[in-house]
Amino acid sequence: MQPMQFIDGQRTSGTGRTHTLVGPATGEVLGTYALASAADVDAAVAAARRAYPAWRRRTPAERADLLLALADGLAARAGELAALESRQTGKSLRLAQEFDVPGSIDNVRFFAGAARQLHGLAASTYWDGATSMIRREPLGVVGSIAPWNYPLQMAAWKVLPAVAAGNTIVLKTSEMTPGTSLLLAQTAAEAGFPPGVLNVLAGDGPECGEALVSHPDVVMSSFTGSTRVGRRVMELASAKGSRVHLELGGKAPLVVFADADVEAAARGAVAGSLINGGQDCTAATRAIVHSSLFEAFTSRVGALMESVRVGDPSDLATDMGALISTGHRDRVAGFVDRARAEGATVVTGGGIPEPAAGTASAPTAFYSPTLLTGVGRDSEIWREEVFGPVLVAVPFETDDEAIELANDTPYGLAASAWTTSTNRALRAADEIEAGTVWVNEHIPIMSEMPHGGFKASGFGKDMSHYSFEEYTQIKHVLIDRTEGPVRAWQSAVFSA
Ligand code: NAD
Repeated sequence: MQPMQFIDGQRTSGTGRTHTLVGPATGEVLGTYALASAADVDAAVAAARRAYPAWRRRTPAERADLLLALADGLAARAGELAALESRQTGKSLRLAQEFDVPGSIDNVRFFAGAARQLHGLAASTYWDGATSMIRREPLGVVGSIAPWNYPLQMAAWKVLPAVAAGNTIVLKTSEMTPGTSLLLAQTAAEAGFPPGVLNVLAGDGPECGEALVSHPDVVMSSFTGSTRVGRRVMELASAKGSRVHLELGGKAPLVVFADADVEAAARGAVAGSLINGGQDCTAATRAIVHSSLFEAFTSRVGALMESVRVGDPSDLATDMGALISTGHRDRVAGFVDRARAEGATVVTGGGIPEPAAGTASAPTAFYSPTLLTGVGRDSEIWREEVFGPVLVAVPFETDDEAIELANDTPYGLAASAWTTSTNRALRAADEIEAGTVWVNEHIPIMSEMPHGGFKASGFGKDMSHYSFEEYTQIKHVLIDRTEGPVRAWQSAVFSA
């Protein structure tokens, strides 16, 4: 059994039940380990609590130096991180090399700089004879929970603003994908992070996750995952009245207006819907296409999807690897099968790709890039998050209808609008209810810009300076400059 917990600067074994790690693209057993139990949560939170007073007193420059050393350590391990990320998730090595790992390292460098820009408003006089100032302070021990789709990136998004601002953290990774988060913690320790500042637990949701959110010494819970579990996290945190930050599910629209460049929109739709096998909260899932372009758009997307090479993730020629598990693959297939039974047309895909299915001795988790048309607005496939390589396309006639369709979802994480008209672009940016609206693009994220949802996609921001709103609190300090014992305003209370 491998030691898969990182507590108080040490790689250690959990004390929970045994978990088996399976490579989704090969079906092979990658190892077994003991999950983190509630007792391990106690140990990790205690370590984070011990580390907090000294960590919060470090100067921003000292924290920034450690973050820069961490970035260098991760860069030196980039190849190892990408290979591990690909092996544990089934995603293509090329995506891990070009997206997950460099994006995470850039995040570390961004927060090294941002750590030194954390000031409140300038001091001034707002009360006669006194000076007020604002301090922006850390919260204490943060408990964060991450999903399996981008394990390293999600760990980075959670850990970096928290520790840059002077908090200490216990991060719970998905039990299916602990490897790269542990390597992040180990690299931080090697870079000189003091024990207890960054702890990583590999545990399940019901035992480890709930114990972390409910722990009395965890002052803030930051969660990325499904809307259902996010609401449970909020409920648990409400019992002790602590802060939450929720990054939840999505059902992103991709709106193709009548004046759009169809080729650009089709390419954007394929990249935007298939990135990470569609297991991306911002993935394009609903193409809303002007009727005059519908035929050209769907036939081009279908052709491009058929050209996508699905297979062995470790082959750099592979475009799309496996989904996270056979269970999740079956869930995705269920959505498509039910849509088909209700009368949807499968333009392409809709099944398990032949070559990939035959190459391994154990069951593997591949699913074909899929485009569906002929779906109704009340259908499950239009409303629910599938989290797989599945795009549905519907036609519209007027711009009003397009905007209404885009907003016809409880979610509001991301959206894109494809148009050559400035007016249409600005209208879409104004009226689409989502935390990100891309124009003539779909997916790009960067460390300087915030990521977070509207509506049922949650609240609070990851990345950028805005993330510090979640991980800091504002203190007003007033210093009176009056000479002598009497303060004029006190006469309102007593006149002696
Ligand atoms: P999930 O909600 O099932 O699990 C997310 C995390 O929560 C995991 O670590 C899991 O172990 C933990 N968890 C499960 N039950 C829990 C409980 N009762 N208490 C505490 N923790 C619990 O989600 P998933 O299947 O791992 O990830 C896919 C989901 O994540 C999708 O809905 C996707 O849209 C969302 N997501 C959102 C963003 C974003 O930035 N908004 C980013 C990535 C993924």
